[in-house]
Amino acid sequence: MTGTEKRRRRTTVAKTLAVLTRFALAASALAASAAQGNEPTEIRRGPFIARADFDMTTLENELATLDALRDEMTATLRLPPLRENIVVRIFRDEKTWREFHRQNFGGAPYRRAMFDRKNYLFDRDDAPGRVYLCLNPKFENDLRHECAHAVLSAALGRSAPIWLDEGVAEYFEAAPEERLTNPVWRARTVERLRRGEFSSLESLEKIVGIEGMTSVKYGDSWAWVCWFLNGPEAARDVIPRYLNDLAARKPFAAKPSKRLKALAKDGAAERSLRRFFAVETLDANATNKPESTAR
Ligand SMILES: [Zn+2]
Repeated sequence: MTGTEKRRRRTTVAKTLAVLTRFALAASALAASAAQGNEPTEIRRGPFIARADFDMTTLENELATLDALRDEMTATLRLPPLRENIVVRIFRDEKTWREFHRQNFGGAPYRRAMFDRKNYLFDRDDAPGRVYLCLNPKFENDLRHECAHAVLSAALGRSAPIWLDEGVAEYFEAAPEERLTNPVWRARTVERLRRGEFSSLESLEKIVGIEGMTSVKYGDSWAWVCWFLNGPEAARDVIPRYLNDLAARKPFAAKPSKRLKALAKDGAAERSLRRFFAVETLDANATNKPESTAR
């Protein structure tokens, strides 16, 4: 183990402790506010309107990261300014959220966190996009993932194709220093590339509903987004330009796979992606094992 890896592990342990401590503090503040019968609280930060039925003071650090998320996404994806507000509804625990979900989204499968976009008539918040999530040990990841969907949708004024929407949300879900070393997806990506199971961009672009987004498709979408945003210089323009065409409602915006074909010969992108994830290097050096998939 290198010094950097040790440092990274210590930082991760320290961060996990910090998250758990904040989670415990939020839970105790919650008990106090429940005892006092507090009304729903609201915190506004730019386009974000966070609401909860408990005192959110202990979540200020987490909510503050939303400004950074919006700024990073805007810069990286060259998004137009957000044209809508985003309501972030936070529930005190999973039980309360489950009950709300059952009453309001009865037919839809339950999720620990979700982003919903509707055209509300006379919406006082001017927020077609709403994020729902509950306090839990993965709260920060849930918050970033769902708010990444919300930022993208508020900037485009519409939904992005599902593979790209989920790939972007998976990418920005991780803390900034872990965007490319995602402990869940990186090792699985290398494995899928080695076995020849990795999804082509064309096959991801054909997915239309959330049912088609199986777990492996989430991982493959994450990997394509990583490569597009951090890979060869020529490819870095593809996603921002595509998103801006979607925002401008260009009727025949060429899909990213078509744009790639105009840049390079068939198969060049996949070969570049294999190099990006160091698949050959890992094949050649059996002692250099991919990171654990445990999470
Ligand atoms: Zn998602």
